[in-house]
Amino acid sequence: MFNRKMTRTKRLLTILIALTLIVTGQLIWRQRAEVDLELFPPLIPDILPAVSIGQSVTIHDPYAYPGEYHKAQLHVHTDKSFDGKWPMESAVGAYREAGYTYLAIADHDRVTLYNDLDGPDFVTIPAEENTVPWPFWPLGTHMLRLFVDSHAWSGDAQARINKTIKAGGMAALAHPNWSGNLQTGQWTLPQMLALHGFHLVEVYNPHSNWRKDTQRWHELIRRRGPKEPIWAIAVDDSHSEDLFNRGWIVVKTDGISKKALKDALLRGSFYPSTGPTVVFGVIDELITVKLKGDNPAKIEFIAGNGDVVSSVTSIEASYTPKGNEGFVRVEVETEGGKRAWSQPFWLEPGEAL
Ligand SMILES: [Zn+2]
Ligand SMILES: [Zn+2]
Repeated sequence: MFNRKMTRTKRLLTILIALTLIVTGQLIWRQRAEVDLELFPPLIPDILPAVSIGQSVTIHDPYAYPGEYHKAQLHVHTDKSFDGKWPMESAVGAYREAGYTYLAIADHDRVTLYNDLDGPDFVTIPAEENTVPWPFWPLGTHMLRLFVDSHAWSGDAQARINKTIKAGGMAALAHPNWSGNLQTGQWTLPQMLALHGFHLVEVYNPHSNWRKDTQRWHELIRRRGPKEPIWAIAVDDSHSEDLFNRGWIVVKTDGISKKALKDALLRGSFYPSTGPTVVFGVIDELITVKLKGDNPAKIEFIAGNGDVVSSVTSIEASYTPKGNEGFVRVEVETEGGKRAWSQPFWLEPGEAL
């Protein structure tokens, strides 16, 4: 009797301690999220200074590289993840059949290695979805580590990014507004701004909120500027075929190889999409957009300060930068609510004439 009572008391105590830890974690988290953003003033201010008449403007076009466009998926789980339901072979088969050329298998906290799945027109990328424990595992944020062959199990977010780069990989911050993991899974803006060396942020993940994720990415690039570019990606984060083929990137690679993909991801020669196939580019000092197919979509040009500077419903559109936008990026929305995002076209005003 006495023993049973003791066991119950012990169990209650354990639950109480766990709850206290979680609540304390939450409080510290909130405090951390409220770090003053004035430490990171926007490089692209709300009111942009006008460019003088006749001043030349250079538009940096991330798509102006040789290559062909291919569909790529950078975030997929197999049954090697605790919450994954499909075996590697099924996942690979499904993506291959859906016309993907590149596929990154990113299981939770492990790099799932495999053999003999690649072909001349299909390349798999070793990767993992790394949990950055906070306040303790399995709580915390998620980071995609692409092109790595082993799990990073220690260190804070910056240390894990550094490890990724050292291993020849690339890091992506997953679902910045994800409300999972008791709210500890969010990458706040101050937190993202304090990190260096990562190149990608998810603006679309079926488990998060694309509107808020896009906004957070926009604020991030607006403050960080073109010298440390952060490009937007869309992903499936699929665990089974239910969440399959919803978000992807279309990437312009020179040939088909891991290296070609990595080069394209580093320079921003790709766009995230949940449906539309689009060609973004610069022709005669105009930023141009051309949709594949005959169905018009809403095409919005968005300046660095967040203003929509042009909006049309068409299968193509173009915009002449005034030069003071900082950057211009494009969002496309079809009638059915499917979207595509361009990367930012950074502008560089030249010498005044
Ligand atoms: Zn995740
Ligand atoms: Zn995931």
